[in-house]
Amino acid sequence: MNENKERNLILLGAAGAGKGTQSQKMATRLNIPQISTGDMLRQARRDQTPLGKSADGYMTRGELVPDELVIGLVEERLQKPDAGPGFILDGFPRTLEQARALDTLLKKLGRAPLQVVDVQVPEALLVERLSGRLSCPKDGASYHLKFAPPKTPGHCDRCQGALTERADDKPDAVKQRLVEYRNKTAPLIDYYHQQRLLHPVDGVGEVEAVFSRITQALQLS
Ligand code: ADP
Repeated sequence: MNENKERNLILLGAAGAGKGTQSQKMATRLNIPQISTGDMLRQARRDQTPLGKSADGYMTRGELVPDELVIGLVEERLQKPDAGPGFILDGFPRTLEQARALDTLLKKLGRAPLQVVDVQVPEALLVERLSGRLSCPKDGASYHLKFAPPKTPGHCDRCQGALTERADDKPDAVKQRLVEYRNKTAPLIDYYHQQRLLHPVDGVGEVEAVFSRITQALQLS
């Protein structure tokens, strides 16, 4: 139902809330690109681009990368043709300044209004999910030793590449990412609520169960 209209989605949620997993499923379902600033920054870091080099230290410590670096990246990405029918932003915006820059850009481009999903997960469970997480450095797919093990231990189901633990999934960086979320990203919930764009969704439970809550909240099913 309504799957042909332009869908401009944001997935909000703390580190470990399942944004990446759910956005990937949504991108497949709606045939729109998943735009993950975390994945884009990790790629830039691997490629040792100027952006990657500037972002490196912040990311390893679990701090947010400065707004101006990330905003430029997203502005460029959203204007690529594949984002014409819609997009799903995963990990952006993460500050009020980023949210305002996004509003300005979408207005300038004459795009349809945003729909924002807030994936809610209690902090104790976030920490549990982040320790034991493995990801594929090639395609960004995410796994978990306990909650979502890959079919072949240590290898990506999709590309068979070797899985690694993210540097920022180490305990100190995890703590810092949750602090950054509370201080800088959580205020976006209120920002979008006031604009009546917010759909809160319970992020506890099986991947499929959470996905169907999201599709219901967005009236896709
Ligand atoms: P998670 O949501 O699991 O913390 P991401 O993969 O989305 O992880 O992001 C990893 C890191 O990349 C963040 O801790 C931060 O350093 C950087 N980053 C990603 N997106 C943004 C953003 N929109 N603004 C600032 N920094 C960002």
